[in-house]
Amino acid sequence: MEFVISPAPQTSVPIADSQSSFPVRRIYCVGQNYAEHVREMGGDPTKTRPVFFSKPADAVVTNNESVTYPMATDNLHYEAELVVALKSGGQKLSAEDSAKSIYGYAVGIDFTRRDLQAKFKSLGQPWDVAKGFDQSAPISAIKPAEHCGSVESARIWLSVNNAVKQDGNTDDMIWKIAGIIAELSNFFELKAGDLIFTGTPSGVGAVAVGDEIRAGIDGVGELSFTILESQNP
Ligand code: MN
Repeated sequence: MEFVISPAPQTSVPIADSQSSFPVRRIYCVGQNYAEHVREMGGDPTKTRPVFFSKPADAVVTNNESVTYPMATDNLHYEAELVVALKSGGQKLSAEDSAKSIYGYAVGIDFTRRDLQAKFKSLGQPWDVAKGFDQSAPISAIKPAEHCGSVESARIWLSVNNAVKQDGNTDDMIWKIAGIIAELSNFFELKAGDLIFTGTPSGVGAVAVGDEIRAGIDGVGELSFTILESQNP
Protein backbone atom coordinates (compact mmCIF):
# COMPACT_ATOMS: atom_id res chain seq x y z
CA MET A 1 0.00 0.00 0.00
CA GLU A 2 1.37 3.39 -0.95
CA PHE A 3 -0.22 6.26 0.95
CA VAL A 4 -0.47 9.71 -0.62
CA ILE A 5 0.45 11.28 2.73
CA SER A 6 2.24 9.79 5.72
CA PRO A 7 -0.21 7.85 7.91
CA ALA A 8 -0.57 9.09 11.49
CA PRO A 9 1.32 7.02 14.06
CA GLN A 10 -0.64 4.48 16.12
CA THR A 11 -1.71 6.10 19.38
CA SER A 12 -0.81 3.96 22.39
CA VAL A 13 -0.78 3.97 26.18
CA PRO A 14 2.01 2.31 28.21
CA ILE A 15 1.23 -0.75 30.30
CA ALA A 16 2.27 -0.35 33.95
CA ASP A 17 5.50 -2.11 34.99
CA SER A 18 6.09 -3.31 31.43
CA GLN A 19 7.81 -2.39 28.18
CA SER A 20 4.56 -3.09 26.30
CA SER A 21 1.88 -0.65 25.16
CA PHE A 22 -1.87 -0.68 24.55
CA PRO A 23 -2.87 0.45 21.02
CA VAL A 24 -5.83 2.84 21.20
CA ARG A 25 -8.64 2.42 18.68
CA ARG A 26 -11.44 4.64 19.97
CA ILE A 27 -12.22 6.65 23.12
CA TYR A 28 -15.77 6.48 24.42
CA CYS A 29 -16.88 8.50 27.45
CA VAL A 30 -19.79 8.44 29.87
CA GLY A 31 -21.19 11.73 31.14
CA GLN A 32 -23.36 12.29 34.21
CA ASN A 33 -22.51 8.95 35.84
CA TYR A 34 -22.19 10.20 39.46
CA ALA A 35 -25.26 11.74 41.12
CA GLU A 36 -23.33 14.42 43.04
CA HIS A 37 -21.66 15.57 39.82
CA VAL A 38 -25.03 15.74 38.06
CA ARG A 39 -26.23 17.98 40.92
CA GLU A 40 -23.18 20.26 40.82
CA MET A 41 -23.82 20.74 37.08
CA GLY A 42 -27.35 21.91 37.89
CA GLY A 43 -29.10 18.66 36.93
CA ASP A 44 -31.43 16.30 38.78
CA PRO A 45 -30.03 12.75 38.85
CA THR A 46 -33.54 11.32 39.30
CA LYS A 47 -34.53 12.85 35.97
CA THR A 48 -31.41 12.32 33.86
CA ARG A 49 -29.58 9.27 32.53
CA PRO A 50 -25.87 8.97 31.89
CA VAL A 51 -24.92 9.87 28.31
CA PHE A 52 -22.26 8.69 25.87
CA PHE A 53 -19.89 10.85 23.87
CA SER A 54 -16.45 10.31 22.39
CA LYS A 55 -13.02 11.79 21.91
CA PRO A 56 -10.50 11.15 19.13
CA ALA A 57 -7.96 8.43 19.95
CA ASP A 58 -5.04 10.84 19.61
CA ALA A 59 -6.45 13.08 22.37
CA VAL A 60 -4.61 10.90 24.89
CA VAL A 61 -1.55 12.33 26.66
CA THR A 62 0.71 9.70 28.21
CA ASN A 63 3.80 9.41 30.42
CA ASN A 64 2.80 12.40 32.58
CA GLU A 65 3.65 14.76 29.72
CA SER A 66 2.51 18.37 30.13
CA VAL A 67 -0.76 19.55 28.62
CA THR A 68 -0.93 22.83 26.73
CA TYR A 69 -3.83 25.08 27.77
CA PRO A 70 -6.21 24.66 24.81
CA MET A 71 -7.50 27.16 22.32
CA ALA A 72 -10.98 28.64 22.43
CA THR A 73 -11.66 28.49 26.16
CA ASP A 74 -11.29 30.50 29.35
CA ASN A 75 -12.73 27.76 31.55
CA LEU A 76 -10.87 24.46 31.17
CA HIS A 77 -12.21 21.92 33.70
CA TYR A 78 -10.62 18.71 34.98
CA GLU A 79 -12.72 15.55 35.46
CA ALA A 80 -10.89 12.59 37.03
CA GLU A 81 -12.25 9.27 35.76
CA LEU A 82 -11.72 5.53 35.88
CA VAL A 83 -10.76 4.38 32.37
CA VAL A 84 -11.51 0.87 31.11
CA ALA A 85 -9.31 -0.65 28.36
CA LEU A 86 -10.87 -3.39 26.22
CA LYS A 87 -9.10 -6.50 24.89
CA SER A 88 -12.12 -7.67 22.91
CA GLY A 89 -15.50 -6.38 21.86
CA GLY A 90 -18.70 -7.12 20.01
CA GLN A 91 -22.26 -5.96 19.66
CA LYS A 92 -25.06 -6.30 22.21
CA LEU A 93 -22.78 -7.85 24.82
CA SER A 94 -24.18 -9.53 27.92
CA ALA A 95 -22.95 -8.32 31.31
CA GLU A 96 -20.86 -11.50 31.55
CA ASP A 97 -19.22 -11.01 28.15
CA SER A 98 -18.73 -7.31 28.95
CA ALA A 99 -16.73 -8.23 32.05
CA LYS A 100 -14.62 -10.66 29.99
CA SER A 101 -13.78 -7.92 27.46
CA ILE A 102 -11.74 -5.87 29.98
CA TYR A 103 -7.95 -5.81 29.59
CA GLY A 104 -7.22 -3.35 32.37
CA TYR A 105 -7.77 0.01 33.97
CA ALA A 106 -6.19 3.45 34.19
CA VAL A 107 -6.95 6.85 35.68
CA GLY A 108 -7.64 9.57 33.13
CA ILE A 109 -8.77 13.18 32.90
CA ASP A 110 -11.74 14.11 30.72
CA PHE A 111 -10.71 17.72 30.07
CA THR A 112 -13.72 19.87 29.21
CA ARG A 113 -14.01 23.36 27.76
CA ARG A 114 -16.85 24.14 30.19
CA ASP A 115 -17.67 27.54 28.70
CA LEU A 116 -18.18 26.00 25.26
CA GLN A 117 -20.19 23.13 26.73
CA ALA A 118 -22.51 25.55 28.54
CA LYS A 119 -22.91 27.67 25.41
CA PHE A 120 -23.80 24.79 23.13
CA LYS A 121 -26.04 23.15 25.75
CA SER A 122 -28.01 26.40 26.03
CA LEU A 123 -28.37 26.50 22.24
CA GLY A 124 -29.51 22.87 22.14
CA GLN A 125 -26.56 22.09 19.88
CA PRO A 126 -23.99 19.24 20.14
CA TRP A 127 -21.15 19.97 22.58
CA ASP A 128 -18.53 17.91 20.76
CA VAL A 129 -16.06 20.83 20.59
CA ALA A 130 -16.21 21.06 24.40
CA LYS A 131 -14.92 17.49 24.77
CA GLY A 132 -13.09 16.08 21.75
CA PHE A 133 -10.17 18.48 21.45
CA ASP A 134 -6.39 17.97 21.28
CA GLN A 135 -4.76 16.71 24.49
CA SER A 136 -8.16 16.41 26.18
CA ALA A 137 -7.50 12.93 27.59
CA PRO A 138 -4.38 12.62 29.77
CA ILE A 139 -4.11 9.05 31.03
CA SER A 140 -1.93 7.01 33.38
CA ALA A 141 -0.30 3.73 32.42
CA ILE A 142 -2.85 0.93 32.02
CA LYS A 143 -2.73 -1.74 34.71
CA PRO A 144 -3.92 -5.24 33.72
CA ALA A 145 -7.20 -6.06 35.48
CA GLU A 146 -5.77 -9.04 37.35
CA HIS A 147 -3.28 -6.71 39.07
CA CYS A 148 -5.84 -4.06 40.04
CA GLY A 149 -7.61 -3.89 43.34
CA SER A 150 -11.39 -3.75 43.60
CA VAL A 151 -12.08 -1.09 40.97
CA GLU A 152 -15.84 -1.33 41.61
CA SER A 153 -15.25 0.24 45.03
CA ALA A 154 -12.11 2.35 44.91
CA ARG A 155 -11.22 5.86 46.02
CA ILE A 156 -10.84 8.23 43.06
CA TRP A 157 -9.28 11.63 43.71
CA LEU A 158 -7.74 14.64 42.02
CA SER A 159 -5.64 17.49 43.35
CA VAL A 160 -4.58 20.84 41.91
CA ASN A 161 -1.30 22.17 43.34
CA ASN A 162 -1.62 19.57 46.13
CA ALA A 163 -5.09 20.76 47.20
CA VAL A 164 -7.59 17.89 46.90
CA LYS A 165 -10.51 18.93 44.68
CA GLN A 166 -12.20 15.62 43.90
CA ASP A 167 -12.45 12.78 46.41
CA GLY A 168 -15.02 10.18 45.47
CA ASN A 169 -15.51 6.46 45.13
CA THR A 170 -16.24 4.39 42.03
CA ASP A 171 -18.92 2.68 44.14
CA ASP A 172 -21.04 5.79 43.44
CA MET A 173 -21.14 5.23 39.67
CA ILE A 174 -24.76 5.14 38.42
CA TRP A 175 -23.91 2.79 35.54
CA LYS A 176 -21.37 0.20 36.74
CA ILE A 177 -18.45 -0.96 34.60
CA ALA A 178 -19.98 -4.05 32.97
CA GLY A 179 -23.26 -2.20 32.51
CA ILE A 180 -21.49 0.64 30.68
CA ILE A 181 -19.79 -1.79 28.29
CA ALA A 182 -23.04 -3.69 27.67
CA GLU A 183 -25.02 -0.49 27.07
CA LEU A 184 -22.34 1.00 24.82
CA SER A 185 -22.32 -2.20 22.73
CA ASN A 186 -25.99 -1.61 21.95
CA PHE A 187 -24.93 1.48 19.99
CA PHE A 188 -21.42 0.63 18.68
CA GLU A 189 -19.54 -2.54 17.83
CA LEU A 190 -16.80 -2.45 20.46
CA LYS A 191 -13.33 -3.71 19.60
CA ALA A 192 -10.02 -4.47 21.24
CA GLY A 193 -8.18 -1.20 21.77
CA ASP A 194 -11.20 0.82 22.82
CA LEU A 195 -10.93 2.99 25.94
CA ILE A 196 -13.96 3.98 28.00
CA PHE A 197 -13.89 6.97 30.38
CA THR A 198 -16.57 6.14 32.95
CA GLY A 199 -17.57 9.54 34.33
CA THR A 200 -16.38 11.86 37.07
CA PRO A 201 -17.36 12.32 40.72
CA SER A 202 -18.22 15.79 42.06
CA GLY A 203 -15.69 18.53 42.64
CA VAL A 204 -14.90 19.50 39.05
CA GLY A 205 -13.34 22.90 38.51
CA ALA A 206 -11.07 25.09 36.45
CA VAL A 207 -7.32 24.84 35.96
CA ALA A 208 -4.83 27.56 35.04
CA VAL A 209 -1.48 27.72 33.30
CA GLY A 210 1.21 26.51 35.69
CA ASP A 211 -1.10 24.28 37.72
CA GLU A 212 0.10 20.83 38.73
CA ILE A 213 -2.63 18.22 38.40
CA ARG A 214 -2.48 14.88 40.20
CA ALA A 215 -5.09 12.16 40.11
CA GLY A 216 -5.32 8.60 41.27
CA ILE A 217 -7.47 5.56 41.82
CA ASP A 218 -6.62 3.15 44.63
CA GLY A 219 -5.35 -0.12 43.21
CA VAL A 220 -5.11 1.28 39.67
CA GLY A 221 -2.51 4.02 39.51
CA GLU A 222 -1.69 7.70 39.49
CA LEU A 223 -1.18 10.48 37.01
CA SER A 224 0.52 13.87 37.39
CA PHE A 225 1.30 16.64 34.93
CA THR A 226 1.44 20.40 34.55
CA ILE A 227 -0.50 22.85 32.40
CA LEU A 228 1.63 24.83 29.98
CA GLU A 229 0.95 28.15 28.35
CA SER A 230 -0.21 28.01 24.74
CA GLN A 231 2.29 29.07 22.10
CA ASN A 232 -0.64 30.59 20.17
CA PRO A 233 -2.48 32.81 22.68
MN1 MN B 1 -16.44 13.30 32.08
